Amino acid sequence: MYPVNYNPISFMSTKYVFVSGGVTSSLGKGIISASLAKLLQARNLRVTIQKFDPYINVDPGTLNPYEHGECYVTEDGAETDLDLGHYERFLNVFTSKANNVTTGRIYRSVIHKEREGAYLGKTVQIVPHITDEIKRRMLLLGNTGDYDVIITELGGTVGDIESLPFLEAVRQLQWELPKEDCVLIHLTLVPYLNAAKELKTKPTQHSVRTLQQDGLQPDIIVCRTEHPIPSDMRRKVALFCNVKPNAVIESMDAKTIYEVPLTMMKEKLDEIVLEKFALKNLPAPNLDRWNDFLHRLFNPEHEVDIALVGKYVELQDAYKSILESFIHAGAENKCKVNVHSIHSEYVDASNVAEKLGGMDAVLVAPGFGERGLEGKIESVRYARENGIPFFGICLGMQMAVVEYARNVLGMKDATTAEIRPNSPNPVIDLMEEQKSLTAKGGTMRLGAYKCRLEEGTLARMIYGKDMISERHRHRYEVNGKYVEALAAAGLKPSGRNPETGLVEIVEIPEHPFFIAVQFHPELKSTPENPQPIFVAFVKAAMEYKEKKQK
Ligand code: GLN
Repeated sequence: MYPVNYNPISFMSTKYVFVSGGVTSSLGKGIISASLAKLLQARNLRVTIQKFDPYINVDPGTLNPYEHGECYVTEDGAETDLDLGHYERFLNVFTSKANNVTTGRIYRSVIHKEREGAYLGKTVQIVPHITDEIKRRMLLLGNTGDYDVIITELGGTVGDIESLPFLEAVRQLQWELPKEDCVLIHLTLVPYLNAAKELKTKPTQHSVRTLQQDGLQPDIIVCRTEHPIPSDMRRKVALFCNVKPNAVIESMDAKTIYEVPLTMMKEKLDEIVLEKFALKNLPAPNLDRWNDFLHRLFNPEHEVDIALVGKYVELQDAYKSILESFIHAGAENKCKVNVHSIHSEYVDASNVAEKLGGMDAVLVAPGFGERGLEGKIESVRYARENGIPFFGICLGMQMAVVEYARNVLGMKDATTAEIRPNSPNPVIDLMEEQKSLTAKGGTMRLGAYKCRLEEGTLARMIYGKDMISERHRHRYEVNGKYVEALAAAGLKPSGRNPETGLVEIVEIPEHPFFIAVQFHPELKSTPENPQPIFVAFVKAAMEYKEKKQK
């Protein structure tokens, strides 16, 4: 699907990079991993990234977004950590179920095997049985032969009880794999103490010592810092932590995550990794398309204000992929997109004009449950009645349908069965195949499905083709019984699943720009391939703003 122009180096064995984190969480291991991957990919290597998460949930699908942010969905329908979104956005290639493993999944397979009798007579233990299963999964993608380099991000922080089996597995692998096939990068924090006006390396020393106690010696130390690290300080870290001074890498806060591959290139992170792998004579990284994107991002000629109406707005990570999609679509349009988070719980008829009146476009976000639903419906109404460009995603699309049924069809009690299962007018209803399901984990309609676009519609114009594929994560759907009445009243279905006829897109041809989709287009937007609906939506916001100013 994505353009792939690889020149595999067929004679080399698969190389493994492990990335651990110390001192504190949220240092950006995912971005460092993705940036290194980008640099290696830009040298024509075939690279993928996988994340090992230490929690017991089998996957993050059942987690509240307040816990770990957005749940990212892959083509093959895996519900994964949001870091996989970064991997796809940086590398421009798909990940899969195999790219995200949790402690829960590891234990589930070991316990399953134990019940089947695979370990008959043996005591099943963390070492070797759990660590064997971790190692098996760490090597799984490497064994496909599809990749030259596998980067494994180890979730959690060194020193946590729950990260130990992962670190132990890496320790064993370092002995089992050829020496030049394994590199361990440790990411730490070098804090700046304002009172002393000094950077401090002690937390890094302690964190490396903890790793050493677990039998691991990092090859490269990446130091997150708010201030440049002087060379004598790098030498100090090198001396205390058994690495070469050039393997102490500074990672300063960047303007945007998309700049990090360039800062890592300046620090020669990729060169040091390749040196450890004894890989010579690779071409210099070709980052032309990436640089082109950054150039457009940093030199906008327009600016728009777009409302993001949702209920998890306190936590930016909950809408990660949507926010990133706006960055990609903004750059494509050379337009700075100011996203204004609007808490749907506090939107009602009395204040909607005040909250949305100054906006150039309105996006109503995905979500689950009753909280904030009425505010979403009110936001749709305001955008629809005032000709403001509107984009609804998943629950946002479902609320657009409810709003139309209530306020245009006059069906005052129209709602979604998600909050009123016995409603007389469930314009959004539980999908047939969902009705018999009781388990909550991994049971939604997940992953990529095809969608056929109707000739002459906005959707068809935006995508420029009649068949598309987008990713899904939902249980409810537009109720087929109401589609005809809604269409006759002006809310047209413009995209349907070719097999089931399920309505995936609705739009209002009478409106300047009103589109709502059941799928999650934000999951496939990348800097090098911005998602078409987001691009068109930002453009519509620019046009709306221009008209307003005249
Ligand atoms: N709660 C809705 C459903 O399950 C929408 C899901 C979503 O927005 N991802 O269908």
